[in-house]
Amino acid sequence: MTQKITIIGVGLIGGSFSLALQEAGVDAEFIGCGRNEATLRRARERGIVSRYSTSVKEAVADTDLVFLATPVGAMEAVLAELADAVPAHAIITDAGSCKQSVIQAARRQLTLMDRFVPAHPIAGTEHSGVEAGFAALYRNRRVILTPEPDTDQSACDTVQELWLKTGALVEVMSAGRHDKVFAATSHLPHLLAFSLVETLYRMEQKEELLRYAAGGFSDFTRIASSDPVMWRDICLHNSDAVLESITSLREGMDSLVEAIVAEDGKRIEAFFKIAKETRDNKVLNKASQDSPIEQAPVPARLPENPQ
Ligand code: NAP
Repeated sequence: MTQKITIIGVGLIGGSFSLALQEAGVDAEFIGCGRNEATLRRARERGIVSRYSTSVKEAVADTDLVFLATPVGAMEAVLAELADAVPAHAIITDAGSCKQSVIQAARRQLTLMDRFVPAHPIAGTEHSGVEAGFAALYRNRRVILTPEPDTDQSACDTVQELWLKTGALVEVMSAGRHDKVFAATSHLPHLLAFSLVETLYRMEQKEELLRYAAGGFSDFTRIASSDPVMWRDICLHNSDAVLESITSLREGMDSLVEAIVAEDGKRIEAFFKIAKETRDNKVLNKASQDSPIEQAPVPARLPENPQ
């Protein structure tokens, strides 16, 4: 089992990873790393790490596993710094919300890719920073591993084992498929929430409008309180899939606009009916079936056509 775990980025995702493993009784020393000493000091006060360094090289020098949890746009610079300093046996894994760009960055910066295990926990809140982490964040939530053909199986197994200890359910997917799936199911809804609030902000009567924006509006836009830097990076690093999802959304909106202009009640109703039935039968049903399941072992190689 891993003895020293370096968390680079001790915010919601990095902090929760450490707290969850500690709560599960994992016997490891947690070392913090980041650009900001005040954040790291607070992480130590909160028990997220027992020591820290603002130097990546120092923080990874004797580690067994590095957990990268900075915004995606900062990962390549961190990987460049740790490349020569990390022990050869150490596993490097990340939690970035897009996978292909992080893998490409790792290929550019690391001499060997076999100990790099790309991962993405499908868990989060609209809060961020060192105060946001909590031990239960990953319980019964999915974590997607996107190993490459040259990823070492034992490194994958170790990362899977740690995620299972946090209470998460582990699945494997190709990075390409991951980026498309989460552009549609996570990135698009976040952009929609940001865009909806920004739309009200641009309206002349915004003060009055925002005063009445409780209830449904507030529920729908909760995730617009998420970190702008994190979401900027996701847009820039998963741009193809994000743009594809936005185009699809626009087509739907255009079709709705046409139906409203044409006063075509049948078409409007049909549009909403498809959405309601899909949500009732597929989204809600699926969510209720998502109870903890037996974990499948991570395959050494991805199947030809991962589902
Ligand atoms: P967060 O709460 O803002 O934490 C990010 C941490 O990284 C902070 O400790 C921050 O500390 C540090 N940091 C920021 N820029 C840095 C840099 N250039 N160099 C070194 N450290 C830096 O963000 P998060 O929500 O934990 O997200 C972390 C990663 O997880 C992101 O890649 C994100 O895509 C992914 N993720 C997020 C969610 C979610 O819902 N939030 C879910 C799944 C995956 P300082 O600002 O004090 O330096």
